[in-house]
Amino acid sequence: MSAESSFQELDLALSRSKLDRAAHLRLDQSALDEMWDRAEIAQISGDRFRTLSSDEGKRVSLEFLTANAITDEVGERYFLGIAESGKPYFLWHTKFNENAKPTSGTFKSLREIGALLNDLEIGIAAHGLALSQWHDAHPMCAKCGAKTESVQGGSVRECVADQQQHHPRTDPAIIVLVKDSQDRVLLGHQKIWPTNRFSTLAGFVEPGESFERCVRREVFEEAGVNVVSMNYLGSQPWPFPASIMIAFEALIDNPEAAKGDGVEIEEVRWFSRVEMKAAVAADAIILPPTISVARAMINRWYGPDAGKDLIGGEAWRN
Ligand SMILES: [Zn+2]
Repeated sequence: MSAESSFQELDLALSRSKLDRAAHLRLDQSALDEMWDRAEIAQISGDRFRTLSSDEGKRVSLEFLTANAITDEVGERYFLGIAESGKPYFLWHTKFNENAKPTSGTFKSLREIGALLNDLEIGIAAHGLALSQWHDAHPMCAKCGAKTESVQGGSVRECVADQQQHHPRTDPAIIVLVKDSQDRVLLGHQKIWPTNRFSTLAGFVEPGESFERCVRREVFEEAGVNVVSMNYLGSQPWPFPASIMIAFEALIDNPEAAKGDGVEIEEVRWFSRVEMKAAVAADAIILPPTISVARAMINRWYGPDAGKDLIGGEAWRN
């Protein structure tokens, strides 16, 4: 168990990183060059990772390259960290290329493979996806508009005109399992989701706002109920494209007032465990995917039979 996971109340797929980021090495170019030559190198093409799959797709792992295998494609290299084995790991970031064919396996998105990767790979993939999308979105200096270039092992971009340094951005969002005094949970349906997909409430933390205030505001805005107490349950990076989800469970005192805001949340519904089991069995609701914080919170609330009773929900779209 990693040091991080001991703080977590939840089993969160994308938080299982085992990589030491070794940030002190990012400023040492000769160390970076030396490590690159003996590194295990994951590749991301657009937002898809080079993977190997076996057992008809049930087993998936990242495919790692060696430096001398990377010759013909234009890309950037980012230092991700050092594994317990002492091996350095890098990301090779190339543009999406429809015609690129891996030597074996296929390119897959983190949404597809997040629940299948081992703890080392998940750290590489979550970090690599967040970092590469940030690089793609910040080719120009936000201050003067000149070009930026990747420096410090890919952990920073620097303006070529004024040397302004730009750091990767992460957008915090709270996610909250709302409960009433009967230990029922409140789930919502968003208009943009597949029919019958119900999940927990969530929203971005605004400038100058604490996580706790954000929980109270979002729960009231989206569902019309008043939070009276809350517990912190853990956090998970959510690089789609740049979020971190901060998870809470919250008790409210006016369950009869629950109503979707009609804008983001079309409908909200209370569930007891018995009602949820029946709804899932009848395909009347589709739960969020296993790698999401929302599903981890629902499963934890439901109890030990969640793995048996609460099935499905892996499709992201319809
Ligand atoms: Zn600039």
